This record gives sequence, structure tokens and C-alpha cells, in this order.
Amino acid sequence: MTVTTRFAPSPTGSLHVGNLRTALHNWLFARRHGGRFLLRIDDTDQARSEERHVDAIRADLAWLGLAPDDEERQSARFDRYEARFAELVAAGRVYPAYETAEELDLKRKVLLGRGLPPVYGRAALTLTDADRARLEADGVQPHWRFRLDHDAAIEWDDLVRGHQRFDPRTMSDPVVRRADGSWLYLLPSVIDDVDMGISHVVRGEDHVSNTASQLQMFEALGASPPAFAHEALLTGSEGKLSKRLGSLGVAHFREIGIEPQALIALLARLGTSDPVEPFADPAPLIQSFDFGRFGRAPARFDETELAQLNARILHQLDFVSVATRLPTGMDAAAWDAIRPNLSTVAESADWWTVVQGPVDSPAPAEEDRAFLARAAALASEIDWSADPWHALTDALRAETERKGRALFLPLRQALTGRDHGPDMAALLPLIGKDRAIARLSAA
Ligand code: GLU
Repeated sequence: MTVTTRFAPSPTGSLHVGNLRTALHNWLFARRHGGRFLLRIDDTDQARSEERHVDAIRADLAWLGLAPDDEERQSARFDRYEARFAELVAAGRVYPAYETAEELDLKRKVLLGRGLPPVYGRAALTLTDADRARLEADGVQPHWRFRLDHDAAIEWDDLVRGHQRFDPRTMSDPVVRRADGSWLYLLPSVIDDVDMGISHVVRGEDHVSNTASQLQMFEALGASPPAFAHEALLTGSEGKLSKRLGSLGVAHFREIGIEPQALIALLARLGTSDPVEPFADPAPLIQSFDFGRFGRAPARFDETELAQLNARILHQLDFVSVATRLPTGMDAAAWDAIRPNLSTVAESADWWTVVQGPVDSPAPAEEDRAFLARAAALASEIDWSADPWHALTDALRAETERKGRALFLPLRQALTGRDHGPDMAALLPLIGKDRAIARLSAA
């Protein structure tokens, strides 16, 4: 069996972090098993779907490095849905129903009032041909329901949730098509999963009850169903479903300087029993990806954890992978020197200014003036070609008997204008002899 997964967003808005996680898991699983990963645009709702969202979805996946092996679009497949729908109608598995939303609502309330589950009572199945003809003559257009088979329990072994069992008698026959002819998500999705040879459906646990009805749709269409993995949803760091998560997407992460590798490293492992580790390359994440490692408890998405992971990953990235985002003139040696101090690539501009100047050094303490003047003098004598920082500090240590903080801090402050920063041994050659002498003398 070839593993084929699909990520099936509706282009009615931008992807949030929960969607990105679903996309990633579909991709990881396909890669893990040498399979295929499809992007399926679920745009049957033509009023709410927008092309700019389709473009943004593609761009988001590209930014994350999750290249689909193929792309499908539901709006290009209406003829196919029509044909399979007609088969199901002919077989009596899909039937017309004429109740208005108000009638259905009222019936639900009556049932609930009696303490009964609000299951659709199938009144439409008792209509005669004459009843239907009359309704249609009155201009009432039917919507369409899938008739669930009540004979046996619906069961499957979910790759995340384990064995699942639903009693179809407690479920309403799902509406698959509206009175205006438009499609609800359930049936087209099944038709696509069959036609596209989807072997594994990976999605959020909010779809579990859809799966129960969809399993019967696969059967009604004469197909064997795929395997299912329903993942626990993400929660915010405050521990409950947060509105904020719904608004966090690629645009936000890019803006705050998160690298795609960091998001991938976090989202691949969040909710699993494996530790989150700063992998800059997805290979080990692919290798270890396994639905059996996922727990059923909601996974906590913590932005602070993401920021820390981002820094750790950034410290591994080589010059080539960030070069286009660095300030002009900043070369590989500068990147290697500055990289350990960064939380985001954008911060490199700041350190590049420290290298190039001008720096705004604080006025030195009285007791450091002579020391810095001596440092300026020695800076013009030492050998700058090898390791000027050690040459300079060794000479100063020998002459002044200063050591530790008293030796290093006044130098760092005069040379960089700051108390902390990259390793001076790496930074000083970048600052260079002339600028260094000028800064030490100015102090
Ligand atoms: N378009 C559906 C959604 O975004 C797809 C669900 C599925 O993966 O089947 O919820």
C-alpha cells in the first residue's frame, strides 16, 4: 500500500497554528513512509472561499518547507460529486428532506425538553411520491440526507484515540447537500478520499463524529475506508482553548522572527511522548514520527517555548541559509560571531551596527581611563592577523595585573557600547584595528 495523506483546508481564512500542525503531521507521516502528501483545497463553499486564501495557504506551506506532491481542488470536481451523489440517491442511501430550519429546530427542542437525544426523526422517509410532488409544486426544494445504516455499530481503530465505537441510532442522518444544490463537506471529502487513494486521514479530533458517518459513506460508495488519526487539539499556554491560537499563523510567526524550522520542531513533537528538541533539519523528526506516540490530552502550545527553540535552532543555522536576510556587508565570519547571541535573525542588524559603528559607549569610570588609554596604545602594537583579543588582553593583564571582569568589562564597553554580547575574540577582528583604536581612545 502506498501511503497517501492529504491536508484539506477550506480557503475561507488564513491557516492558524492548529492547521499548520495538521499539515505538518500529514507531511511527516507521508515522508516517513515514502508516500505522497496532497494539498486539497476544500472550496465547495464558493461564497466563502477566496483565491487570496488559496494563495496564502500555498505560501504558508512553502515557507514551512512542506511541498505537496500534488494539489487538488474540490471546485474542479463538482461533476464527479454529482455523479456519485446520483448513485447514492438511486440506491436509496441519500434521500430528499423538506423540513425548514425552524421546523427542525422546534423538533430538536421538543426532544430535548423530553430528555431525549435530538436525533433527526426521519420524517422525510415517510413521505409518499405524491407528498413530494406536492411540496415541490409549492416550490419547496429539498435538502439531502445520507441514510445511516442502523444495523450495526460503527467502529474503527483510530491511530491516536484507539478503538472507537458509535451507535448509529444515536446519530442524525447527516445533511450532505443543501436545498440550493451546494455541498456540505462530508460527502465530497469521502468521494475525494476514494478517488485520490487516500490511505490515512489525519485531522483534528473535532472530526471524530464526522468520521463515524463518513465510514458508512465509504462503504456505500463501495470503497474500503482509509485509516484515521484524530489528534487532540492544541490549547494555549493558559491551558484552555484560546481564541488567540486561532489568530496565530505564519504571518505572525514571521513577523516576530520565528524560523520555519523552529515551528516544525515544536509542532512535530507537541502532544507526543517524545521530547521537543532543536532540530534544524527535519530528518530526525520524520524518522521518529509515529501516531502511537501521541497522547489524547490536549497539547499545550507555548509561545515562550517556541521562542527558546527558535534561538537554539538559529544558533545552528549556517550563513548560506540566512544570508539574504542579513544586513549588507555582513559575511560568514560575522554571522558565526554574532549568531550565538541572537534570538532572531533580525537582531543581527543591531550587532552589525556594533561592528561597523558608530557605537555609543558610556563614559568610562574614572579608574578605567588610564587602563583604556593603555589599551588603545597596545592595540596599535599587537598582531591583528591572528587573535587580537587574546593578544590585547594578555598584554594588558601582564601590565596592569587586572583580571576577570575588571579586565574585560571596560574593554567590552568601550569597544561595543554594551555590557554583554558575542564573544569578543570573534567580534574584535570584525571591528578591526582602526575602529578599535578609535573607540578605545575616545573612551
Ligand atoms: N476542510 C475540512 C476542514 O478544514 C477538512 C477536514 C478533513 O481533513 O477531512 O475541516
